Amino acid sequence: MERHIFFKVEQDRVLVPVGEPCPFGCRYCYTRDGAVGLARVEAEDILSRLQVFARETSFETIQLGYDGDPFARPLRGLAMLEQLASMHKHVNFSTKALLEGSILDALSTLRHRMAAEGKTLSALLSLSCWDSAPVVEPHTPSPQERIRTVTNLARIGIPVFIAMRPVLPHIAEREYERIVIEGLLAGCEGFIVGPLYADKRGRFVRFIPPDVLAQVPSRTKPVSWSAHAPTWTRYEDPDRLERLLQMIEKQGGRAFQSSAEVMRLLEHREVMA
Ligand code: SF4
Repeated sequence: MERHIFFKVEQDRVLVPVGEPCPFGCRYCYTRDGAVGLARVEAEDILSRLQVFARETSFETIQLGYDGDPFARPLRGLAMLEQLASMHKHVNFSTKALLEGSILDALSTLRHRMAAEGKTLSALLSLSCWDSAPVVEPHTPSPQERIRTVTNLARIGIPVFIAMRPVLPHIAEREYERIVIEGLLAGCEGFIVGPLYADKRGRFVRFIPPDVLAQVPSRTKPVSWSAHAPTWTRYEDPDRLERLLQMIEKQGGRAFQSSAEVMRLLEHREVMA
């Protein structure tokens, strides 16, 4: 099994899969057919393969969670993070889960342990809409619950950034504005905007009105950040992107166009124990 788990260093970071199908079922989700990784693989297999990769390759940061949500099953996600933290790298995880109680306490302990070694534990919390969430992300923790996660993580000293991606072409600007306002009140340190992807069957974009999607500039090419390099169509409207970046800054937030930029920022930050 291990030989099918691929890693790739891109901009000094390595993306690590969760290895389980995600139950949240966001309608734009591109992980469901296994194009960015095996649908199901034991955590031990991922971690042992990563340890071999780390001995052969240089990188600064591990990002957990591009193929699923590590905290869809919190104890499994936490166990993976604890193993990753022992590799003496900065560690980041992506989630849409509501994190509180004993899981939050364990993350606080882990953050302190890593800080004592000069390493940062950080989080990306994903939000792609606000009022439209019951339709677009019907089985995912609500935006309000996700904002509670931001508040909780910020309170225990974990830097949290909100990934506003994919930017959805049929979602109104005011929903993104609400995300930024709520995120800043919750202690979020910045916002990452990102594209919408579609495979050649268009499965991740079927819920978007076709006439709206047809207006969005797109390019079809291999995805650079994935070790599996699926060829997908990337939808991204540069004018809308610019409007969103300006709106974030106008609200007093920091705007980023990729999580790699955020990882670089965190790598150079002094870690507070
Ligand atoms: S939380 Fe992420 S991995 Fe899970 S369904 Fe939504 S987009 Fe897919």
